[in-house]
Amino acid sequence: MLKNLVLVLNCGSSSIKFAVVDPVSEQNSFNGLVQCIGAKEAGISWKQDGNKQQQALPNVNYPDALNFILDLIKQDKELAERLFAVGHRVVHGGERFTASAVINPQVLDAIRDCQGLAPLHNPANIAGVEAAQKALPKLPQVAVFDTAFHQTMPKHAFLYAVPYDLYTSHQIRRYGFHGTSHRFVAQQAANLLSKPLTECSFITAHLGNGCSVCAIANGKSVDTSMGLTPLEGLVMGTRSGDIDPSLHAHLVDSLGYDIRKVNNMLNKESGLLGISGIDSDMRAIEEATANGNEQAALAAEIFCYRLAKYIGSYAIPLGQIDALIFTGGIGENSDFIRANTIKWLSLLGFQLDAEQNKTHGRQNGAIITTEGSTKALVIPTNEELMIAQDAIALTN
Ligand code: ADP
Repeated sequence: MLKNLVLVLNCGSSSIKFAVVDPVSEQNSFNGLVQCIGAKEAGISWKQDGNKQQQALPNVNYPDALNFILDLIKQDKELAERLFAVGHRVVHGGERFTASAVINPQVLDAIRDCQGLAPLHNPANIAGVEAAQKALPKLPQVAVFDTAFHQTMPKHAFLYAVPYDLYTSHQIRRYGFHGTSHRFVAQQAANLLSKPLTECSFITAHLGNGCSVCAIANGKSVDTSMGLTPLEGLVMGTRSGDIDPSLHAHLVDSLGYDIRKVNNMLNKESGLLGISGIDSDMRAIEEATANGNEQAALAAEIFCYRLAKYIGSYAIPLGQIDALIFTGGIGENSDFIRANTIKWLSLLGFQLDAEQNKTHGRQNGAIITTEGSTKALVIPTNEELMIAQDAIALTN
């Protein structure tokens, strides 16, 4: 039997996404999600060969949730036998990982060493690796890091202007995230433009619940908007993105907040949710805007303006732009957000084609700008496929 499938695991702090992916045909016949791990309402939903199923798993703990997934896969004997490798999304690889890596004891220790940089995420990723190693001991396991793609950023882009010792002794610097997505859509765009990636300059905008932009020169990340943590940069669903760093002290001194409350507010109560007072979800923001809600309209406007400012600033490290790429749930689906971002970018030569934008560039080779404009493209991301392709490339 042909062994050509990769089990892709994305273990978050209270959720696990999984998919069985064929990295060559790009088929994904089995995928699902466990949500609310540890809570009463925990449950799993999955899709196998087009059939959707779900089951409540009240108060399920992390190892049991993972074992439930692995048992489901093992129940399909043919599928289980075709598994070739397991690919894990790992959030933080620090400076140690500049690319994906086959997991051995040293690599696992190095991922543990990065735990301090991602205390919510890396422990969950490690739990996923350990459970998969136990359940599928014969399969090689590969770690694909959110941060690795951005390890090509130069020092002038990744350092904060704070005492240098914080970098050398405590690894405090900008790392960036969403690297797998930025790398995937950049490769797709190079293919679409029939140009080697190593000769392409792109600005990629990954706009989901979390949002980041990346400047890519000759196929390599040279700057990105997220920093030490995913809070820096763009306005997001519930994250503020950039703020004056003195806001913390101001809120502590003048409103009596403690530092945890400030941090929670900036990560969970800000962004689209904070400004609109309605929702963190862009569909809800768009609907409310269309119904005349001024706060929602303001949230969308701030989102687009901040995004456009970042895109504009990335002309600096790139010098030339082969294309601006929109991806992620918002980037792929919201013609409204794309239009309201591109309207700020005429100085960089962008001119929207409203018709192509409405249909997400699908009839026009992904291009949503007019002829003669600097190109903007809409490209669906596929992080699972990228992880599966890395897993096969490293273990074949
Ligand atoms: P995640 O970052 O959790 O992977 P997604 O990439 O799925 O999230 O993006 C979620 C965001 O995409 C939400 O804000 C959602 O409202 C937005 N989105 C999805 N579909 C649409 C749509 N048709 N129009 C506008 N926004 C959309």
